[in-house]
Order: sequence, then structure tokens, then C-alpha cells
Amino acid sequence: MLDCIIVGAGPAGRTAADRLAKHRRSVLVVEKASLPRNKPCSDDVSGAIAQGLDFDLTPAISMKANKISYTGKMEDLVQVQINSPMWMVQQDVFDDFLIKQAQKTGAKLRHSTEVKGIEFKNSVWEVKTNSEAVSGRYLIAADGAGGPMTKRLGLKEAKLCLSPSLENRSIKGDSVNFDFGTIKKGFIWSFPQADGYSLSIAAMRGDKPKDIKNILADYATKCGADLSVSNVREHPMSLWEGDRKLHSPNSLLAGDAASLADPLSGDDVIRPAIFSGFKAAKASDRALGGADDAKKPYTPFIAPEWNTDMVWASRLAKAFYQFTGAVYRAGLQFLRTTQLMSKILCGELLYAELANRVFQKLMVF
Ligand SMILES: Cc1cc2nc3c(=O)[nH]c(=O)nc-3n(C[C@H](O)[C@H](O)[C@H](O)COP(=O)(O)OP(=O)(O)OC[C@H]3O[C@@H](n4cnc5c(N)ncnc54)[C@H](O)[C@@H]3O)c2cc1C
Repeated sequence: MLDCIIVGAGPAGRTAADRLAKHRRSVLVVEKASLPRNKPCSDDVSGAIAQGLDFDLTPAISMKANKISYTGKMEDLVQVQINSPMWMVQQDVFDDFLIKQAQKTGAKLRHSTEVKGIEFKNSVWEVKTNSEAVSGRYLIAADGAGGPMTKRLGLKEAKLCLSPSLENRSIKGDSVNFDFGTIKKGFIWSFPQADGYSLSIAAMRGDKPKDIKNILADYATKCGADLSVSNVREHPMSLWEGDRKLHSPNSLLAGDAASLADPLSGDDVIRPAIFSGFKAAKASDRALGGADDAKKPYTPFIAPEWNTDMVWASRLAKAFYQFTGAVYRAGLQFLRTTQLMSKILCGELLYAELANRVFQKLMVF
């Protein structure tokens, strides 16, 4: 009988496993993919992640981007030097770091093992996989955006936003680029990698256009990419939509399964995945230990810190994606705004603080 079974070995599951093992809990992480997995991701992480980790991430960082540029329909280019560089990681090295760390502290891992069904009976979780059944007292669902566990736990499934991503080795550079307006109610982002660029596109509000992959391919061609050596894949993102229940008896959701992605930038989502991994470990450890407040649900445990900021991100996203072109021309193309946005992307500034600054300026006016 395990203390905790974690479904999914992404950043959220790996972080939760490490923390629980450190609290001497017996933990098993079950992952359907064969590791190292190759998930579509632009692999940008903010320096803010390092604050929470108790090991050095340096070997996983493949490069640091010091420049950020914005365009509106590929015109009106603004490029700024940013004070805190954005870190580009090698996904396999980064993932490997997190899982090795968890294994070192005692967590067990089964990869190439898919969870096929779960049942909660007599306060015990019976988890059926394609190879065997395992039992545990607690369950953490960290199975990513669109994973099956949310529904199996009887929780409300999130709306997904499918995002195609194109890896290309024929273009090189060191600038993080965002283009607004080429796709309606969304944006295109291209992030440098040590060996090329990763270009992704998302419709953040409303329906995904049918020709979304063609829009991305056109953009890539205009950037000089040779499409014959490109690899396009699609993966869902699960954007924050408001307060949601994130727990049910002896179980909870973490990472993308909990829909924590910033609805304005859609970026730096590994940060909340790791943050929720810590929170999930803490909540389940307290519940397993029978702490006095263990019956306090996990949802409010995570909500005050993350949701307050996401409420602001959501308000800004509503206005921004409604009038993308006008907002771009009126604000985003100016240097000061670009610098402030880059601070948010690097986890150095909260939307709530930004809103407060704007409010104070308006009061002085
Ligand atoms: C195109 C794109 C670009 C992105 N770029 C960035 C970026 O630059 N920076 C950033 O911070 N974030 C980015 N993200 C988001 C980031 O990749 C995710 O937020 C992050 O991986 C979430 O981590 P997680 O642990 O919650 O879930 P995941 O990393 O998705 O891991 C979930 C795991 O659960 C496993 N699983 C699912 N079902 C089962 C099952 N039944 N049994 C066993 N295992 C199962 C899956 O195989 C998967 O490995 C991007 C996302 C997309 C789609």
C-alpha cells in the first residue's frame, strides 16, 4: 500500500513526487509515455522557478534570451533588451533532472505505463494500469491538459485550446518574438533554442481557426524557415478560466490538469505546474498525516496565491484579445510596456501589481 500515487510525470507530477518523498511518504509516479518524453513545448522557463527548487538547474539551461520583440501582423517591430534573461531549457535534460531528483529522494517511477481506471473503495485508491493494479491512500492527478483523470475524479473538465507548434532548425537567433494580430484573438510566439527555433500559435479566446497550421506555416516562411525540415505537432493548453474545484476525496489536481495557464500570455506555465506540485505535495502530506487542518480542501490552499493574479490576467486578456490591433498600437509597441510585460513573463512582476501601478497613475492624473 503506497501513501500516494501520482498520475503523470510532467513537471507538476515530478515536483510533487520529490516533495512527498522528502517527507518520507511512499510515492509512485505512473507515466504513460516512455521517458524521456518529447512533449511539444517552447521550453522557456522563468528564473522565478529556481527560487523554489533545492537543486541547481544550470546544466539544463541551453541558452538565455536577452532580447524580446513584438510585432503587430508582422509589422511595427519593437525590440528591447531585457534585464532578466528568459531561460531556454533542453526539455529532456530538464525533465530528467526533476525525475532523477525525485527518485534520489525515494520516489518510484513506472513509465510506459498508462492508468486505465481508478476506483476509491474503503478509503483506498485502486489504480489499474495497462500492466498491473496498484493501491494508494492518496492520488495526485498531474496528467496534463486534456488528461483523463479530471473526469474520472468527477471534477469539471476544462476547455482546451489546441496549440500547434513547429520546430525548425533552419533559422537561428537569440530573440524571443511575439506577433499579435496575424491570428485573430491569439498570438504567435517563436522562442530560440540552442539548435533552431520553436514557433507556436494559439487562439486564446474563441474557436481555433481551421487553417491555424497554415497561418503558422506562413509566419514561419516569412521568418525564413525552410518548411521541408520542420516538424509540426499539436498539443492542448488548459487556460485559467476562474475558480474551479481542484480536489475530491483523497485526491487532487496539479499542473495543467488544474488549468493554471495564464490566459493572457499563455506562457511560463511550467512555473505554476511546479508551484502546484509543491502545494499538492504539502496538502496530501498533511492529509496523510492526519493534521488538524487536513480536512481543509486543497482548492483554497492554492487559490489565493495564483487566482488573484489570474483574475487580472483574465480581465486584461478579455480586453486585449477583443481589440488586439488597437491595443498593440496604443500600448504594447511602446518600450516601457514591453519591459513591463517581459517582467511578468519572467515571473518578476504580478499582474495585480501592474494593475495597481496603472491605477495609481490614473489617480494622479
Ligand atoms: C505548444 C506549447 C508550447 C509551450 N511552451 C511553453 C513554454 O515555453 N514555457 C512554459 O513554461 N510552458 C510552455 N507550455 C506549457 C507546458 O508545456 C505545460 O504547462 C507543462 O508541461 C505542464 O506540466 P504538467 O506536469 O502539468 O503536465 P504535462 O507536462 O503535460 O505532463 C502530464 C503527463 O501525464 C501523462 N499522462 C496523461 N495521461 C496519463 C495516463 N492515463 N496515465 C499515465 N500518464 C498519463 C502524459 O503522458 C504527460 O507526460 C507550452 C505548451 C504548449 C502546448
